[in-house]
Amino acid sequence: MATKIIYFTVNGRPEQAEFPVTCPAQDVKDLFRSAAEAGPHDILKLYNPKGNIINISPNLEPNKPNTCYKLEVVASGCNSEPLGVELAGALGFDLSSMEKRQWEDAEIMVLLQVMYTDLDFIATYNIEPEVLQQFLFEVYRRYNNIPFHNFKHCFCVTQMMYGLIWLTDLRSKMDSIDLLIMLTSAICHDLDHTGYNNAYQINARTELALRYNDISPLENHHCAVTFDILEKKESNIFRNVSPDQYKRIREGIIKCILATDMTRHNEILSKFKSILSSFDFDNKDHRDVLMMILIKVSDISNEARPMEVAEPWLDCLLQEFYNQSDAEKLEGLPVTPFMDRDKITKPSSQTGFIRFVLLPLFIELANLFPCLELHIIDPVRKALDYYTEMEKALEREKQNRAPCENGFKGKEIAVGQTSAPEASNSDTQ
Ligand code: 5GP
Ligand code: MN
Repeated sequence: MATKIIYFTVNGRPEQAEFPVTCPAQDVKDLFRSAAEAGPHDILKLYNPKGNIINISPNLEPNKPNTCYKLEVVASGCNSEPLGVELAGALGFDLSSMEKRQWEDAEIMVLLQVMYTDLDFIATYNIEPEVLQQFLFEVYRRYNNIPFHNFKHCFCVTQMMYGLIWLTDLRSKMDSIDLLIMLTSAICHDLDHTGYNNAYQINARTELALRYNDISPLENHHCAVTFDILEKKESNIFRNVSPDQYKRIREGIIKCILATDMTRHNEILSKFKSILSSFDFDNKDHRDVLMMILIKVSDISNEARPMEVAEPWLDCLLQEFYNQSDAEKLEGLPVTPFMDRDKITKPSSQTGFIRFVLLPLFIELANLFPCLELHIIDPVRKALDYYTEMEKALEREKQNRAPCENGFKGKEIAVGQTSAPEASNSDTQ
């Protein structure tokens, strides 16, 4: 029977794997796993000489010793020691290399487990590793495969929350149960999102809008799905906490997830501003508002990430927005203005959002935690400059193009006589 030989290195050590071309995928993976001396929960990553991740499967391209692949083991969190602030770096911020690579779903589940371990939730709340894995798997299953509100968005938001917890040293300021609530809320906050926002749900009179009487239909649904997962014994990570603790956790998660409805943005931000000057970590009302602010910040924090990470996320968001406005047009529903592909461009979408939503929110959080300025305000200001420049460039391009397209002379355009279709689009914020 024909066999394949694959050459690779593990920790610089040359290895080779030989298997029949008809070998089952799992056997090929196991071969690599034993070569790497990896544990059953560890994740294996195989890179080609160009540094691209390739799939470990029977279809692997055979190679030669001088063009060998590189095998890497991503340790599972299950057995690892708490990694503390170091991990916050890797998982949260300044992630020069790690954050820029695209995590795969299985790795994401491991990283999420590591966060629970690292924040001592496993030990404190007696969470069995299999139950945590099952919970995360259910969560993964119940995020939809849509451009933006998918499992990877859930990870980004959770990663940001985790990073914020470490950077602000929240462990010394708040109860561990509040941190557990925040991390779990971040993970669950967009469960079963369909890619159409609340305005659409309400206008299209969807099942969700009917069920929740137009009151935050999506967020109510994300929350209900969360507790549906937690109702099952096998995936209830809170099954060993006391009834009082469960009650507090449930209340907290509901509060946090419902706070992600952006129509409540001003209400929540105003509340935070009003308590900021006398903020007291011993005051439950104050802590509740802070928890809502932290999940909101995490939820809309893409622009605080390096540009190479943030920009593709914006493309995904706009893709989802455009899908919705297309559907609205087709179905004769009111078109959500900030989603209209005929009116919105990347820079026009971001400059307004950053100026009027992101920065005002982030600045208030940084008032309470000045150390965050560097991590979340600076990159967002840079993003604003970047999109402002892009907006100007697009505007110039449009003006240069307009005379030819409309058969006008430049001079006529310059005196602002035209009502070319694009002209009405420049004020869409
Ligand atoms: P989510 O739907 O993720 O729970 O809530 C966040 C909402 O804020 C998104 O649906 C989207 O409307 C808005 N949002 C988040 N990040 C951005 C962004 O970078 N740009 C724009 N224009 N809107 C954003
Ligand atoms: Mn979200």
